[in-house]
Order: sequence, then structure tokens, then C-alpha cells
Amino acid sequence: MDVVSLCSRLIKCKSVTPNDDGALDLVADFLAAVGFETNIMFFRSPDGSNVVKNLFASFGTSSKKILGFLGHSDVVPPGDGWDSDPFEPVQRNGYLIGRGICDMKGGIGAFCSAVAQFVQKKFDGSLKILITGDEEIGTPEGIRSLLDWCCKTGNIPQDCLIGEPSSENVLGDRIYLGHRGSINIVVRSTGLQGHVAYPSNFKNSLAPVCRFVTHMLDYQWKYEDKRFPQTHLEPTMLFTNNYASNVVPDQTSANLNIRFSSDYNTSMLREILQNEAKKFDLSLEFIESGNAFFCDDEKLKSAMVSSIQEVTGVATAFSAGGGTSDGRYLVSHCNTIEFGLVDKFIHQKNEKTKIQDLLNLEKIYLRFLEKYFSSP
Ligand SMILES: [Zn+2]
Repeated sequence: MDVVSLCSRLIKCKSVTPNDDGALDLVADFLAAVGFETNIMFFRSPDGSNVVKNLFASFGTSSKKILGFLGHSDVVPPGDGWDSDPFEPVQRNGYLIGRGICDMKGGIGAFCSAVAQFVQKKFDGSLKILITGDEEIGTPEGIRSLLDWCCKTGNIPQDCLIGEPSSENVLGDRIYLGHRGSINIVVRSTGLQGHVAYPSNFKNSLAPVCRFVTHMLDYQWKYEDKRFPQTHLEPTMLFTNNYASNVVPDQTSANLNIRFSSDYNTSMLREILQNEAKKFDLSLEFIESGNAFFCDDEKLKSAMVSSIQEVTGVATAFSAGGGTSDGRYLVSHCNTIEFGLVDKFIHQKNEKTKIQDLLNLEKIYLRFLEKYFSSP
């Protein structure tokens, strides 16, 4: 099965997070056919309310070099307004269209196709492929449980390629070496409802939230670690329990997100935000996604950059911007590098990739495997 057929079959699986719909079995069967040992695992939350299907596949027993690949087979919901069925692959004008082709069934298809060719020849090392089924919602039953299992069973790789879409405009122009941390903040305010014309009779819950958000938008974040883009706060939601223009609401909440460099960590940000919120008499709730991480491994970087160069001729830049990835859980166990398709159309309707990019990504991953395992 060529890379385009494999990706097309993956698109047909309606693996809207955390559902699987056969996507992981398809990958497992493909890898088993070229000699991988495959292990489909269901991880359950302690109360049994959440079950996530994951795949671990391995090839070889030599521990001289152990390369991992991390991916996810789940996709975000398609939403409305597609020109065709989001789960029916369509080839048009040189593109392959379908939900999840960029994020990240294309990356999985390209790596599996590359690896199928690579294992035909002898090499001194082993491969470990980790595919999770819930990356888009990120419950503990995906990557965290899978990594726990890998630790317990001695299956942590030495180095790991993450196949998430990382390219910006053309395939190969960007590799992620890390990402900023992310924290969500819910601001809550309670007041006293009243007629807008009688300020002495009400306590507006909305006004202090507006003042706080404006205050935080002007906050001067320090910027010392220039490997990352600067720390940035953005308001994302605002709710009140009122829809009449002459009524002042007694309940307001707002959501903020901070993407932060290694100049901060989640506990520092909690403290800063709590102190600032006190000035406005507001209560905060924090939902942490993880701290900033960065991995600067020379052998992974040079193997990937030269593979990209040989296949596409494109000059590559390194970045630690963008959204976070499951690399944040891996980085404490092994070296990581993140490289994949162009990310321009991810999570959009009519999600698409150039078919030529899929073919080139397969070639780049194959060259990367050859270089990785042949380097001293
Ligand atoms: Zn993804």
C-alpha cells in the first residue's frame, strides 16, 4: 500500500477524538505486515468513565540505538461547511483532502511507509512507535498512561521523532525543537443585579473583570530566554448571565490563555495572576497544560535538516513557537524533534495537504532513518 492509499484509508476512519473507528488497527496491521510486534492497549481512568485506545509497535531488539516515533490517530470534529464529506478522501488539484490529513494522519502514513521500506534492510538498533488516541483532548489515558507503560516495561526510546505538522509555508521550512507552556485561567466575579440607571442599588460583576483583563493585557512580561517567542496573554471568552441592555449582571466569567517561555512556570504564573486578581477582588481557577520545553539535540537536528535538504532543497528554521504537543511529556524521558507537514490547514474545514508533500515527507523520514541509524 503506498503512502497516499494508506493516508486515504486512515481518513475514512471517523476517529473524532477520543474515538478510534479502526484507525489504530489499520496502522497496527500495516506495521505487523512488515515485521513489527504490535500491541493495542486500552487505558482506563480510575473511575472507569474514560477509556482510550493506544498503539505501541516495536521492531528489533538491539539497544544500540532506539528511535521512537510519536503520533496520534484522533482528529478534531469536522464542523460544518465542507465541500465534500470530511471522512471521504478526495484528490483535487494535487491535494489530498480529508479531516486529519495534516494533523496528523499524513505524518503517521508517511512514517509507516518510510519505516516499511527501512526495515527491509539490516540495521543495528530498534524502533518503537507510539500512537495515541486522544491527543486532541489530552486526557491522562493517552500519552501519559502509554509512557508509564513504556517506563515499566523498559520501552522508552533514546530519541523520538514527533510527526506533528511543523512546516510553516512549504514542507521542510520549520522544525520544532520545543514549545511554550500553556495555562488557561478562568476569572469569576459575583455582584448584585440591578437596573443600569441606579448604580447605588447594584454591584456590577462585569466591570471588575473588564478592568482586570485590560490590566493583564498591559502586563509587562519579562523576556530573557530568546529561544522562545515572548510570553503572551490572550483573553478568549467572556460570559455574563444577562442579555438585557438595562440590566447589570451579577455573574461574569472570562477565560484567558497564557503561552509562556521558560522565563516562567505554571506556579510562578499562578502567583502573579492571584496577586493581580486580588487588586480587583476576583477569584481565579487554573487549568494547566504544561510548562515550556526545549530539546536541542545536535544529531537529531543535523540528520533531519540534511534529509530535508536532500529531498526538497528547502532551508530549515528552528522554532519553539506554535501550539504545544505531547512532546512535553516525552522530553523528560528522551531527546525529541518535531517535524511534519505544513500546518496551515489544520483544524480547518477542507483540511488538505499537497500529495507531493506526502510523497516527499515519506522520503525525508526514510533518509532520516538511514542517517540516524548509520551515524556513529
Ligand atoms: Zn496533532
